[in-house]
Amino acid sequence: MSQITDWADAERHLTDHVSVLVGDDNGKYPSGNSLVIRGDGEAVIIDPSVSVVSRGGAPVAVDAVINSHSHEDHMPGNGFFTDARVHIHHDDLPGARSLDGLMDVYGLSGEPRDDFAKQIVEEFNYSPRPDAEGFSDGHVWDLGGVQVEAVHLPGHTRGHSGFRVSGGVFFLSDIDLTGFGPYYGDVWSDLEDFERSLIQIRDEEAEYYVTFHHKGVIEGRETFVDLLDGFHAVIPRRHEAMLAFLGEPHTIDEMVTHRFVYRPHVQHVFADNVEYRCAAMHIQRMLTRGEAAEVAPGLFQTT
Ligand SMILES: [Zn+2]
Repeated sequence: MSQITDWADAERHLTDHVSVLVGDDNGKYPSGNSLVIRGDGEAVIIDPSVSVVSRGGAPVAVDAVINSHSHEDHMPGNGFFTDARVHIHHDDLPGARSLDGLMDVYGLSGEPRDDFAKQIVEEFNYSPRPDAEGFSDGHVWDLGGVQVEAVHLPGHTRGHSGFRVSGGVFFLSDIDLTGFGPYYGDVWSDLEDFERSLIQIRDEEAEYYVTFHHKGVIEGRETFVDLLDGFHAVIPRRHEAMLAFLGEPHTIDEMVTHRFVYRPHVQHVFADNVEYRCAAMHIQRMLTRGEAAEVAPGLFQTT
């Protein structure tokens, strides 16, 4: 394996074994922050970004690629490190193994599916890896002198996982602690799972917490918990806003038009789909909690 590239300007060393390859524009989408772990036996890269591909490789020969989940921005290196094994949680295997499987994860059909599939191949270097291997919660990779443990944190996707690396590093992936808040707008997303994952991760002890996007490296548990609590608070805030809107009876389509996740001016192709799925999940939560009722077919109102 010869794809060794100089990352001196954008590689941040956290421990003797662990470094972050900071993606273009500080890891902002479409790029991201990839984690490199060098053991005495093997080296792995977690979530090789488009920047890893555009720079022509990693600073070390990579024996295995580990994907935190099957979203386009986390897998550009899967088709680049062709000699390396690919590992991903069992539940997200279809997205790594085939393009069709990935489109099912997003829940797209028709023209948007075809358009996005094309974009993922052209802009995100997507290459199917039918040989990708599944892992489960608690799986440990012993790289020699350093261990990586998978922590299943579903909600963003079914298989979304974080990674606990010995020496005090935790990779949060798309529990990205941004002001936007948790993203649970795909067919393979789940609000209840996401919230359970946020509660679970709050106990995580580390020196460094790394998100794939934007925030990047967070130092110290206190800062992490502050950011996590702010991120988590977006869920009840969305819920309260929807409850207020449903003071009058409304359909889910009317909630989509009103916008609770994206701002009204956002013209993202998938915004309406995301709004729809999020509204439906929050309504399910309201029905379960007895906060709202279906007062006529397809019409919801707070009780
Ligand atoms: Zn994602």
